[in-house]
Amino acid sequence: MSHFETLPGLDFGIKVEEGVDAHAELSFDLFAAAFENMHGDVGLIAIVQGYGRFAHGCHLIGGQQPHSIDQRKICHTPIVSLNAGLHPFPMWRIYTKRVHMPENNTRDTVILGSGCSGLTAAIYAARSNLKPLVLEGHEPGGQLSITTLVENFPGWPDGIQGPELIENMKKQAVRFGAELRMAHLVSADLTKRPFELNLGNEIIHTRTLIIASGASARWLNLPSEQALIGHGVSSCATCDGFFFSGKEIAVIGGGDSAMEEALFLTRFASKVTLINRSENFRASKIMLERAMAHPSIQFLSSTTVEEVLGVEEKDVKGLRLKNRISGEESILPISGMFLGIGHIPNASAFKGMLDLDEDGYILTRNNVFPTLNGELLPGVFACGDIQDRRYRQAITAAGSGCMAALEVEKYLEEHGR
Ligand code: NAP
Repeated sequence: MSHFETLPGLDFGIKVEEGVDAHAELSFDLFAAAFENMHGDVGLIAIVQGYGRFAHGCHLIGGQQPHSIDQRKICHTPIVSLNAGLHPFPMWRIYTKRVHMPENNTRDTVILGSGCSGLTAAIYAARSNLKPLVLEGHEPGGQLSITTLVENFPGWPDGIQGPELIENMKKQAVRFGAELRMAHLVSADLTKRPFELNLGNEIIHTRTLIIASGASARWLNLPSEQALIGHGVSSCATCDGFFFSGKEIAVIGGGDSAMEEALFLTRFASKVTLINRSENFRASKIMLERAMAHPSIQFLSSTTVEEVLGVEEKDVKGLRLKNRISGEESILPISGMFLGIGHIPNASAFKGMLDLDEDGYILTRNNVFPTLNGELLPGVFACGDIQDRRYRQAITAAGSGCMAALEVEKYLEEHGR
């Protein structure tokens, strides 16, 4: 793993981190000038990293990179030594800046989202030599990266951990030339050709676009719940379950996600109360039976959460519940509440640009073709959970990612690259 990948919260736009001083600025400008001299009109983003007293290295990302530069790892020795040799840094810093963004810096395809669907699209597009750029989004790896054992992905008879499956897909995509970048879309202009994508501090252009931005966890949207996110309220059992060892907790929801979370959380919690607003459960029979058979899971049906208690203490103390049939209210003392109530599609950037359904999912024809006012929008494709509210499985998301990439290939063949 490169140092670059280990740095938390790094954003790839044009940015100067707080505290970057004239030394760093000068160092960077020297680097940028030297780089442009050497590589002419190649569009690149440069990142200068300093560790300890000296700049540690220069990382190059984005643009059409020359073959001499190992994607996401750097290294151009003369430039690295320019920094490291001449300009001591008083402390480590990072900053990024666009070196050059020429007119012709247009991608063949950009993939929004790095979940199962986006990465499958990336594997196929990369194997077709389209050098796809994958924008990882605000939840890199998508839903699989925050799940546990995936038992129904074909080819893994004993199951595979979701994060491992995603990591394998990333490696596979990168091996064939996909570029993964930690950035997310602020807005898109699909009326222009090539399409214009605004990443906040950077604009990129692409001939085709694959939207695989998936869906994010849904919240109850109670003020008390929102106030306690990170203080006992969570939407990710895998991420936060560990903090509830030996404690009593609640899981909200009645679908497979809720069952999965509840089962997972029994590894830590002394008791899990599963609260479902309806009388019936949406979960598959096998998952429901598994959860019901577990001695540490208790079920409450036809029950809603009215308030999460503990806002003043900044720590979840319990839930005020209401039985929807009797109207009776009760207090359930717990230390943590996990949401497992489904997801919201990440398509708000496309409102008005593409047809969405009433819940914000992208409407598609023949699986991956979005429309605008009922007419197909050539060059744009959507795959995975952003357009599928019926199946929503890892394997179906991967399948539609494959379809989208094959359609991109066909489109570029027909319209020229
Ligand atoms: P889901 O099946 O849509 O279930 C959502 C649950 O949350 C329902 O019980 C729903 O209640 C409840 N809910 C929604 N909004 C709520 C609110 N505001 N307040 C309280 N409860 C609310 O979603 P999911 O469980 O995330 O599953 C989505 C898909 O992924 C499914 O196809 C599922 O099979 C799949 N999945 C599979 C696995 C696996 O196989 N290991 C794991 C996870 C998910 P109502 O019924 O009253 O609407």
